[in-house]
Amino acid sequence: MTGRFLIIGPPGAGKGTQAALLAGRFGIPAIATGDIFRENIKNETPLGLEVKSIVDAGDYVPDALTNELVKDRLAKPDATDGFLLDGYPRTLSQVAFLDALLAQEGQKLDAVIRLVVDVEVVVERLRKRAAQQGRSDDTEEAIRHRQEVFKRETAPLLEVYEAAGLLVTIDGIGEVGEIAERILDGLRSRAIEVPSAAGQN
Ligand code: ADP
Repeated sequence: MTGRFLIIGPPGAGKGTQAALLAGRFGIPAIATGDIFRENIKNETPLGLEVKSIVDAGDYVPDALTNELVKDRLAKPDATDGFLLDGYPRTLSQVAFLDALLAQEGQKLDAVIRLVVDVEVVVERLRKRAAQQGRSDDTEEAIRHRQEVFKRETAPLLEVYEAAGLLVTIDGIGEVGEIAERILDGLRSRAIEVPSAAGQN
């Protein structure tokens, strides 16, 4: 089964959790730009050293850098038949880049999953994650800043994907499994074939 999907939502919306479940179900890689940046920062690669202060402050890495990173990742064999991008695109310029990249390959997106979560819930979740995981951009200040940047830079993307008829809007409040089911139902309602769960066919 294949599919080319995006998952979009504010920081703390639970994108990573849902992305892993959905990608597993479709047998496609979940590609999170934030994870790739953090991995590079941890390993002190040239890219990591370049983006560390930006990521720690909760600002967006420049589009040119982010776009190249995604281009390289999508060129890997495991992504040729499908992928789920988490945290990309986040700006209109990244949207245009991704569109062009896919068009070059004769590909297009199947759906854009939008996770909607109340801002208060999100800030509380991120506070907990900060306590558990110690992510260096989960300070109170950076959390609030990331919410603002999302509203300013990424919310406009939703209009673009809505106009393209790709948006699947999902209530992101509830149990993890419940939300995962909502996403699958949302995809089915767009006539996307969802693979049966392992062991259930
Ligand atoms: P969150 O959703 O909590 O902000 P992510 O792991 O998605 O966490 O992203 C962490 C950080 O990585 C962002 O604040 C930003 O600095 C950087 N980043 C991730 N994806 C992008 C992107 N598409 N464009 C620019 N910067 C990005």
